[in-house]
Amino acid sequence: MKRKLLITLLSLVCATVCVFALAACGGGGHTHEWAQTWESNETHHWHNCIADGCFITDVSDKYGYAEHDFSDGDCVCGYKPTYNYTVGLEYKFDFGIDGYFIKGLGTATDNDIVIPSEYEGKPVTKIEDRAFENCNSLTSIKIPDGVTEIGRNAFAGCSSLTSITIPNGVTDIEEETFKGCGNIASIVIPNGVTTIWPTAFEGCSSLTGITIPDSVTHIGWNAFENCSKLADINLPDGIPYISEATFMGCISLASITIPNSVTTISNNAFKGCSKLTNVTIPEAVTQLGNNVFRDCSSLTSIVIPSGVSKIYFSSFSGCGSLTNLIIKGNRIQIDGDTVFDGCPIETATVPSNVCSFINNPALKTVVITNGERIYDSALKNCSNLESITLPATIAYIGDEAFMNCKKLTSVTFDGTKEQWRQISVGSNWSYQTGGIIVRCTNGEIDYN
Ligand SMILES: [Zn+2]
Ligand SMILES: [Zn+2]
Repeated sequence: MKRKLLITLLSLVCATVCVFALAACGGGGHTHEWAQTWESNETHHWHNCIADGCFITDVSDKYGYAEHDFSDGDCVCGYKPTYNYTVGLEYKFDFGIDGYFIKGLGTATDNDIVIPSEYEGKPVTKIEDRAFENCNSLTSIKIPDGVTEIGRNAFAGCSSLTSITIPNGVTDIEEETFKGCGNIASIVIPNGVTTIWPTAFEGCSSLTGITIPDSVTHIGWNAFENCSKLADINLPDGIPYISEATFMGCISLASITIPNSVTTISNNAFKGCSKLTNVTIPEAVTQLGNNVFRDCSSLTSIVIPSGVSKIYFSSFSGCGSLTNLIIKGNRIQIDGDTVFDGCPIETATVPSNVCSFINNPALKTVVITNGERIYDSALKNCSNLESITLPATIAYIGDEAFMNCKKLTSVTFDGTKEQWRQISVGSNWSYQTGGIIVRCTNGEIDYN
């Protein structure tokens, strides 16, 4: 500090008072006369000699030659360095890794943040939890490859952020890391990420597409909830489940391929995906949680594979375009009346134990694939039902099972007339139907 003042003083004296002579005037033989102004390069500053025929060739011999000193702010020479990273960020030294974490914006005022790979000679390896949370004027962030951890909520609420690079060494996209980043249109998840933690991208309402690399094996709940423009996403083969509400409210998602590795589709997974027209549930799936496809109002057809043992409540409730239902299993458990509530199913191909469509005016065709019993009132008041197909295994048709199906004329029975006559039927099972003809394998039985 004192030394710097002294140099400043000396240089002023030199410039204003006079002519200041250095020692050795070597061969050239003139007295140096030092310019008032500073010269500088990226590292040093000095005064040039302005005397004619100056013999100094080495800049370090010029007057006042020294390294820039920014310890008190700007250097005395007025040099302002240019950095290829953002100046002013807040750092935290970590003894364990002998390097730095980024704690936050600090005094930086840039909206385009470039994080350095080193700080004070040590590597920068991590962006701390909440480091840039709610920094809503930030527009872009570059993160160097040496950063291997990005903490929870690190960029949550950065509502102006349009661009971010996630470095290759990162393995986890933490909880809420990008939650509410409503301006990011695309993001690349590097190959090497294994886990996308819950709510990581929740509310990224401008995100139109995202590619998830095969290295990802877990996607947490609500990860993409309310990504309202998300139209294109691939799920890597190998993920074991679709977590709760992962895609809830993704109203632009028109189709998705669920990988064959998935065994469970959890509650609310696709709830409110109102553009979803086509979805294939893989054979390995054993359970569909509650509200899984609730209010998927564009879904027209669904096939429930034979491995599914239970469908929880309201799974397809409010699927207002769902006309074709195929349930392949034979002992599937349906959790109450709400599963297909509000679905205008026209064609149902189901086992007998889930044949329960009382008061459904949309229903036209029912194919029972297996089972022994048609329950009481199973198809009662289905006013547009025209045909029913029954397997030979049917042994009982319940009370009022087909009652008031005024258009029902055709029953196809995959057994003989003799087998049909052995079926026990409940009271009014066919009361006020359209005049049934039962087509058996060896002839017809006419109830008209
Ligand atoms: Zn000179
Ligand atoms: Zn300087």
